Amino acid sequence: MLLDDLRPRLLLGPGPSPVAPRILDALGRPTVGHLDPQFLAIMDDVGDGLRHVFGTDHTMTFPVSGTGSAAMEASLANVLEPGDTAIVGVNGVFGGRLAEMARRMGAEVVTVEAEWGRIVEPERMIAILRQHPHARVLAVVLAETSTGVEQPLAEIGAAVAGTETLFVVDAVTAVGGTPVEVDRNRIDIAYAGTQKCLGVPPGLAPVTFSERAMERIRTRTTPCQSWYLDVSLLAGYLGSERKYHHTAPINMVYALHEGLTAIREEGLEARYARHARIGARLQGALVERGFRLFAQEGHRLPQLTSALLPEGREEGPLRARLLEEHGIEVGGGLGSAKGKLWRIGLMGHGATDESVDRLLAAVDDVLGTRGA
Ligand SMILES: *Cc1c(COP(=O)(O)O)cnc(C)c1O
Repeated sequence: MLLDDLRPRLLLGPGPSPVAPRILDALGRPTVGHLDPQFLAIMDDVGDGLRHVFGTDHTMTFPVSGTGSAAMEASLANVLEPGDTAIVGVNGVFGGRLAEMARRMGAEVVTVEAEWGRIVEPERMIAILRQHPHARVLAVVLAETSTGVEQPLAEIGAAVAGTETLFVVDAVTAVGGTPVEVDRNRIDIAYAGTQKCLGVPPGLAPVTFSERAMERIRTRTTPCQSWYLDVSLLAGYLGSERKYHHTAPINMVYALHEGLTAIREEGLEARYARHARIGARLQGALVERGFRLFAQEGHRLPQLTSALLPEGREEGPLRARLLEEHGIEVGGGLGSAKGKLWRIGLMGHGATDESVDRLLAAVDDVLGTRGA
């Protein structure tokens, strides 16, 4: 009953993003066993597709069963042991989540904070790294979905490369929308989620581990605190042994496979260019309507725009009207930005001129503005 009444929405929030029909079709393919050779071939292909979108040669690249936060947890839990130092850049919700997880794992967490809406200056991260030469992990968020900021990585990666520290990057909102370049940026561990720029429903979380990270995992003195997310056990299934660990979410893997195929067909560079163009178009149009862009200029993500509403406008009721009257979902502010701004995602299949046209028409309607 409830399902029959479900009305489609145009998903222009911080995720999930719109899912193309071909991907929904893939979800409906016959479920087979997780040790079926047909499925194993699909899983191997998914590994190749993920290496392509991450920009890496790392062998240990696979989808974690769970959402982005599960991959965040896997990324930290496998390499941290109680008493280890973890340096975490915090300029929004997701940096805060990384720090909280690391603390729960018993790590000594050193946060490098920056104002929401601004990057964490690479020099500051590097200075803190120099003060903690034995830090196990240095983590930052590449695409901070709570603010719309894109964090520069190259300098940090170069500084981390010659040390004992592993470079961990949250690329959840970046993958498939803006470049991650794991190998070029000397990233040891990066993770994503399917429901942002990959354009697949929520439920899987791609992750990649460098050989340096795998070596760290092999030389741990205590077992990984999470059994489910233990990469050394997962390797038994993903590698040639094909040993049962947990049942892979079969149909979600089909969907991810289809999403990665769509990316190959479009071409990664063309896809980045599409996101860049569509995001810039929306940002320009919002400014014309009296919105102020929240993220620091020069570091704005095209796939996630955070915009402060025109003076005197209350965001909550207007956002509710976008959903109820226009069937369009956008996000509100989180944490310190709560009640102040909209977070508009133009991700994956949703990053189109048509999405922007529909959204602007709806915005003009609820704000009483006129399209320029
Ligand atoms: C969405 C998101 C996450 C968490 O992903 P879930 O799928 O909600 O668990 C983590 N980091 C960033 C930057 C995100 O945008």
